[in-house]
Amino acid sequence: MFITFEGTEGAGKTTQIRHISEFLQNKGYHCVMTREPGSTKIGKKIRTILLDPDNNDMDSLTELLLYMADRVQHINKVVIPSLSEGKTVLCDRYSDATLVYQGFARGINIELIKKLHRLILDDLKPDMTFLLDLPPEIGLSRAWKQIENGIRTKLETRFEKETLAFHKKVREGYLALARLEPERFRIIDASVNENQVQREIIKNLSLFLFR
Ligand code: C5P
Ligand code: MG
Repeated sequence: MFITFEGTEGAGKTTQIRHISEFLQNKGYHCVMTREPGSTKIGKKIRTILLDPDNNDMDSLTELLLYMADRVQHINKVVIPSLSEGKTVLCDRYSDATLVYQGFARGINIELIKKLHRLILDDLKPDMTFLLDLPPEIGLSRAWKQIENGIRTKLETRFEKETLAFHKKVREGYLALARLEPERFRIIDASVNENQVQREIIKNLSLFLFR
């Protein structure tokens, strides 16, 4: 089973993945927690290039192809091998992030992104995607707190250079994708506290798994 977590900055994806992994392990599932970009040796190097504030002059197509290169490596070295061993893969961001960030928000042709996905991913789709949705104002203030407390490193703060309008666009993009595929997406209100978010995800997951 392949489950992805998506959302804007400070939505709590990483934290929730840890909770859900623990919940599933207790139910006897073997889980693999992973993230994009940066879950393989090569992917980590790509992540550094992508998030380095020094690389602010990066062409948006270069950026797109780096995300794709990271994804190919991640799928072939981590996701597919884990799935074929019967493990449950919990992934922090996947192809929807590219459609939203590079396509919807930065203006790269959506059809081009979809075409690349078809070519290089063999259309590997998540069985379920949790969209942790919240107003970007709340998410950004959480993200800033994480920086102050040293939980988030400077290299993960690429969002700094983006405007609030950009983050609002990202949120809208995600909601638009979720409306297109209601079967796959579960929209979770991520503005409430950590425990409430966790309960809501587990409720949805249980309905899906133990139907
Ligand atoms: O997943 P995480 O929040 O660690 O992402 C790191 C940074 O990469 C974020 O600032 C996010 O805005 C950015 N990002 C992006 N395009 C993607 C995925 C992430 O710009 N496709
Ligand atoms: Mg995170």
